[in-house]
Amino acid sequence: MTAKILDGNWFAGQIRERVRNEVVSLQQELGITPGLAVIIVGDNPASQVYVNRKHKACGETGIHSVVIRLAEQTTQNELLQKIEELNRDGSIHGILVQLPLPAHIDEMVILQAISPAKDVDGFHPFNMGSLAAGRELLVPCTPAGIVRLLEMAGIDLEGKRAVIIGRSNIVGKPMALLLLSRNATVTVCHSRTRELAAIAREADILIAAVGKPGFVKPEMVKPGAVVIDVGINRVEGKLAGDVDFPAVREVAGAITPVPGGVGPLTISMLLANTVKAVRLLQPTAGVK
Ligand code: NDP
Repeated sequence: MTAKILDGNWFAGQIRERVRNEVVSLQQELGITPGLAVIIVGDNPASQVYVNRKHKACGETGIHSVVIRLAEQTTQNELLQKIEELNRDGSIHGILVQLPLPAHIDEMVILQAISPAKDVDGFHPFNMGSLAAGRELLVPCTPAGIVRLLEMAGIDLEGKRAVIIGRSNIVGKPMALLLLSRNATVTVCHSRTRELAAIAREADILIAAVGKPGFVKPEMVKPGAVVIDVGINRVEGKLAGDVDFPAVREVAGAITPVPGGVGPLTISMLLANTVKAVRLLQPTAGVK
């Protein structure tokens, strides 16, 4: 059996179309153009690429976007002041600080300074806590994009065994919460997990967010399973996922490729979160 390829670019395009329509209706209904501010500190080349992509995607969907480029030696206080300014700026509905930050800046302090209502990355403890309590406000973009993909692909989650490899705050943990609230039976694996291959092989839905190229081998996959590859690794100048794609493709029922799988969905969900933030900021939404 050769797996069906879940084309992330196609699903991302569908989400962007909805965002574009939502931008138009926000302008018509409320006279508001959604605004996103992206802050980048230093000149990490990969971060520059991501930020440019986000800026371009905003332009394509009618979202007003501002990129704030700060020098590597920017102090934590200077960055906090910038965030405070954006928290108060009525034309900005979403604030994103591109990670990683230089080592002299405490990431947690910065993420907590962003107003939860403008936290389009969904990393603020308020949004994380809400998610854990079963209330999905601004949800981290990568796992939110995966859920959208599964829904749009008509993959039923109810009662399914889902195994996530990786427990990071940005992917693994929120992914587990999202699947749990959709009634999947969820197992989260990590570097200390024993019998990982056997656990993975029980999954109807296997999500790999490990950061190790080709980590998921065909013998770890139940025949017919849905395999979602979150990994973005560079191998000899090329992008590679966490899944041994050519081999796993022969066992799985459906699989996301790298590139062209989860990556495009992440950016689309950032746009979706920015328009969602506009709604959440309305006085009736109850989020300040
Ligand atoms: P982290 O490095 O924060 O987390 C990796 C996780 O994998 C950890 O929980 C770690 O376990 C676990 N792990 C590492 N080695 C093993 C092992 N041998 N066996 C089992 N588990 C292991 O990574 P992220 O979650 O931030 O990202 C994961 C991957 O996804 C990366 O390749 C990243 O580039 C990519 N990514 C892609 C995105 C996209 O848009 N497509 C967005 C975000 C990330 P432990 O906790 O025990 O250390």
